[in-house]
Amino acid sequence: MTARGIGPGSIVARDGRIRDVLPAEATIPAGIELFDFGDRVVMPGLVDTHVHVNEPGRTDWEGFETATRAAVAGGVTTIFDMPLNSIPPTVSAAALSEKAAAASGKCFVDVGFWGGVVPGNRADLAPMARAGVAGFKCFLVPSGVPEFADVSEHDLAGALAEIERIGAVLLVHAEHPSWIGKTATGDPRRYATYLATRPPRAEDEAVAVLARLCRETGARIHVVHLSSAAALERIESARAEGLPLSAETCPHYLFFASEDVPDGATEFKCAPPIRDRSNRESLWRGLAGGAIGMVVSDHSPAPPEMKSRETGDFLSAWGGISSLQLRLPAVWTAARERGHTLEPLVEWLCAAPARLGGISDRKGAIAAGFDADLVVWDPDAAFEVRAGTIHHRHKLTPYIGKTLSGVVEATFLAGEKIFDRGRFSGPPRGKLLWTEAGA
Ligand SMILES: [Zn+2]
Repeated sequence: MTARGIGPGSIVARDGRIRDVLPAEATIPAGIELFDFGDRVVMPGLVDTHVHVNEPGRTDWEGFETATRAAVAGGVTTIFDMPLNSIPPTVSAAALSEKAAAASGKCFVDVGFWGGVVPGNRADLAPMARAGVAGFKCFLVPSGVPEFADVSEHDLAGALAEIERIGAVLLVHAEHPSWIGKTATGDPRRYATYLATRPPRAEDEAVAVLARLCRETGARIHVVHLSSAAALERIESARAEGLPLSAETCPHYLFFASEDVPDGATEFKCAPPIRDRSNRESLWRGLAGGAIGMVVSDHSPAPPEMKSRETGDFLSAWGGISSLQLRLPAVWTAARERGHTLEPLVEWLCAAPARLGGISDRKGAIAAGFDADLVVWDPDAAFEVRAGTIHHRHKLTPYIGKTLSGVVEATFLAGEKIFDRGRFSGPPRGKLLWTEAGA
């Protein structure tokens, strides 16, 4: 899958880079190791800009070794780690150094980092940017962990002025606090009880505030994990106005629907929540129309006991869905059911996230000069998701038992085959996408 579309061909790689993309009839240069994948799809390695690795500090939730192995098995060759859930959270250059030290030597894929915007750390943003974060992330509502506080609109305006000056992007968890945190009524084992505590209105209102701040400050803003399709209209009109506002959604919002979440199935809990079927179909239209630019995992695992699976209490369970390894087949399965072809997957899963992470000059495409990061997969083969084949530290995920189309057969990182039909090979050779020199 190249800029020319889908067709037979050969990819020549040397020293970690793609040197040439040759048509099928071209002669393969002599003296090089040849892998023939027949009629399988060869796509750029996936880029996932929304991953919570949680190390250091909460390595029992996930960790660089387990997360990046799961990435390899899912055809993902670059992840960007979110600034929160690790301790310390990445809210200063010193904390970034700690995180990079924790990641060093453990990563099976390339890893970049987001910095955090929290109340009072405006002076830390430029040093973090110099140290190599791809951009910043903040919350408008409580994040779920005490050490990563949410920002007020006032904090946000100040941070955005600084972010605009730096030329970075701000990722925002867009739920407005005025519509969140109402006391839940009803059976806590019923998904609807939880769903009612985080109405679409909270997202719509937050997106309205962000569009306004975007206009006032000129800063680039990216809405993470958009779940409410009602906010799409505001995003579309902001973009039509030329504002630098973009949005992502996640596989679970495109795959599942609230009507289908069983009582007590807390593995489905995330924030914002999975909404109803008609909302899901509208999200698909938003993706097809371009208002939503990409699909990234928001892989956010926690130990099973924190998911309150025994009690099935949606209100006390940790909110976060594990899906780093399953993004490609989950999105493909749901996309194909809706008549989409393979082509847009490269934009949604590779190219658009690479642009967001500032690495689109070397990742997210199969083209000469790009990193030889590739996934080889069979879109027509199906598999049942079983705990035994999941490489996340914790196996609980709402995809267990689902049959998905799209089997990852091989993964290449910088020209090295690191995964082949279920077998991993080689040491962790992923690079950290940051620069200590700037710290
Ligand atoms: Zn997240």
